[in-house]
Amino acid sequence: MKINTVAIHGAHVEKHNNAGKPVITPIYQTSTFCLGEHEYANIQNKNMRAIDFYTRCGNPTLRHSAKLFADLHGAECGEIFASGLGAVSASLLTFLAAGDSIVTGLDIYGGSVVLINKELTRLGIEVINVNFEDIAAVRKAIKPNTKVLYYETITNPLLKVPNVPAIAKISKELGIKFILDNTFATAYNFLPLQHGVDLVLESSTKYLSGHSDCIGGYVAGSNELMSKVWQTSISFGASADPFAAFLVERGMKTLPLRMEQHNKNAQKVANFLVTHPAIEKVYYPGLATHASHTLAKTLLKGFGGMISMVLKGGNAAGLKFMQQLKLPAQAVSLGGVESLISMPFNTSHSSLTDEQRAQVEIVPGFVRLSVGIEDAEDLIQDLKQSLDAICR
Ligand SMILES: *Cc1c(COP(=O)(O)O)cnc(C)c1O
Repeated sequence: MKINTVAIHGAHVEKHNNAGKPVITPIYQTSTFCLGEHEYANIQNKNMRAIDFYTRCGNPTLRHSAKLFADLHGAECGEIFASGLGAVSASLLTFLAAGDSIVTGLDIYGGSVVLINKELTRLGIEVINVNFEDIAAVRKAIKPNTKVLYYETITNPLLKVPNVPAIAKISKELGIKFILDNTFATAYNFLPLQHGVDLVLESSTKYLSGHSDCIGGYVAGSNELMSKVWQTSISFGASADPFAAFLVERGMKTLPLRMEQHNKNAQKVANFLVTHPAIEKVYYPGLATHASHTLAKTLLKGFGGMISMVLKGGNAAGLKFMQQLKLPAQAVSLGGVESLISMPFNTSHSSLTDEQRAQVEIVPGFVRLSVGIEDAEDLIQDLKQSLDAICR
């Protein structure tokens, strides 16, 4: 079955008698479950994952939404977490211990940069940051103690696309886990597990739920790896709430429809932005001028809904541009049906010095736009009136 069907029914549809059963997965808003012989036997056999007995370790609502995420990715198994970072930390802490090293990049989601470079370092894990676009550099950076390669399908905020199959080949050769954050692409635009990635993870706060109304995260991969991730996650406790799982499951059903519109809208908006005199530079993988365009074209089904741009006139011009907009709200986060706009200098990358920001190409006037699913013509008109006003 294809993705529109899987998003609604899951990958394993059986004809069975559903009479009297709910059509939608109910919210099991309970912390605990009654125990019987079956439960006691499974607890004795350390097989807690197979039963409902305590919601931190499992719950039918959580399990059902995690299964749907796994199905979207063609994975054997999926797990849900309280947040995207909960998914990142559980995955990394499963395969890294003091004395090990991780090879990653500094140009990824800010929260992941802090988790890896501050918290993992504090635990005695060595962090090796490289330019993931340079495959030779990735290979060279790997040391005998390297256990994990970690990166993103489309990076934040420069929207770079790494050569996932080439990196996966190195990871297989050397027996290192390759973990990929697929939040910006989603299963609609890219299926990492089909390209040799070991674990795919996403912040469901973004496109997966798609309505800016809940926080969550998911990981998917083989049964073998996921049972290890589950074990770590129940100890660290980033377990999701059933209501959030319900909201993401509701969102996932329209993921393909929404992503198609995000892809189309963002391409139209990017095409418009490059023509406007108030703009210095536009970053969008769907533009032939983007450094990753050729690779993105071969790997991705669509280029996603995120656009970054640099305005002439620096941060003052950027702030004025955002304030004069009527449709996009000034807010961090992304991937909702509504357009959102923010500047990394005073939000996601505020803790960096001007120099450090310049190193990752976040120059004054850098603006990040999450293109929603409104009508592209209305968005373009709104962007145009604000950019025109800056030129005057
Ligand atoms: C938002 C985000 C995260 C973290 O997700 P939370 O749900 O905020 O914890 C991780 N990776 C990427 C790429 C993100 O955009």
